[in-house]
Amino acid sequence: MEFRYLGHSGLKISEITYGNWLTHGSQVENDVATECVRAALDAGITTFDTADVYANTKAETVLGDALKGERRESLEIFTKVYWPTGPGGPNDVGLSRKHILESINGSLTRLQTDYVDLYQAHRYDTETPLEETMQAFADVVRSGKALYIGVSEWTAEQIRAGHALAKEFGVQLISSQPQYSMLWRVIEDEVVPTCRELGIGQIVWSPIAQGVLSGKYQPGQPPPAGSRATDEKGGADMIKRFLNDVVLTRVQALKPIATELDLTMAQLAIAWVLQNDNVSAALVGASRPEQVYENVKAAGVRIPDDVMKQIDQVLDGVIERDPAKTAANSPQDRPA
Ligand code: NDP
Repeated sequence: MEFRYLGHSGLKISEITYGNWLTHGSQVENDVATECVRAALDAGITTFDTADVYANTKAETVLGDALKGERRESLEIFTKVYWPTGPGGPNDVGLSRKHILESINGSLTRLQTDYVDLYQAHRYDTETPLEETMQAFADVVRSGKALYIGVSEWTAEQIRAGHALAKEFGVQLISSQPQYSMLWRVIEDEVVPTCRELGIGQIVWSPIAQGVLSGKYQPGQPPPAGSRATDEKGGADMIKRFLNDVVLTRVQALKPIATELDLTMAQLAIAWVLQNDNVSAALVGASRPEQVYENVKAAGVRIPDDVMKQIDQVLDGVIERDPAKTAANSPQDRPA
């Protein structure tokens, strides 16, 4: 495993980070979830990402159980707040002071830890004054329940405003967690330059485009049994945006490029996001331990510049680059 600093902080994280969205407490049985976490630890992953909303809090519980007995100082545990959890009351959502200060306690109980290393705003809350949100996050840090704070899917402008307030309140906003892959590059024009300037690192989600960039979804064919595209508990709905034959045909054309570098397609996809020096970690999911062992081999891989250009040529026409998609894909109002 290779380690990178998370933004301009002194915190080092494994450049391949394990995440449990859609898997723990949902698609994957608990024993397999535990095996995946064991595989991650065995392969040198030290950083684990979850959220209170994943499987409506069950994912945090599964991860907490799976990490039980590990030396806390050897792990970096990240979670998030924003999306509705619990019975769905008016204050069970968003980034109000009330919801942040209550949610952190629930997350810590489920994760069986006294603190998380990173507490992230899972989206921007258009209905809470940003000062209130950042003050509440600062209080979470000052109470010792989180060491650092971060955001997810915020625009460059929102990140800049949040970063300035965090600084004013004496805490470090060090990370941004956006979607980023060969197919989804919307952060490159605005979010990445702003974060470079402010010393914020990206922890990028769905680097394999939820499995699509592994090449296992073939154009014109039904999805393989047991894959996310067949997961009716949520996965199938989430992955469908990438499942069209134009995209899948282009993705198949990446296979010879991966083979030439002696990589699998999933490894190529993970290594690709890690070529960006503003990326602190590729946040990878797994439904089986074998995937973890395969994927970690992307750590430390250098893709030559001419191959990076070749990848762009192969995917030309199916890459999403519009920076407006960050805001467009986030809720305009706080979800009920
Ligand atoms: P990936 O792009 O890594 O997709 C992971 C899925 O792809 C696996 O569950 C598996 O699904 C399949 N897969 C993984 N490795 C391989 C392989 N080698 N060969 C074939 N298939 C493979 O990322 P995710 O979409 O899972 O997201 C990763 C993490 O990012 C999440 O767990 C979460 O922590 C974070 N995230 C954050 C979001 C946010 O809003 N901040 C939103 C979404 C995710 P299967 O076997 O079922 O097909």
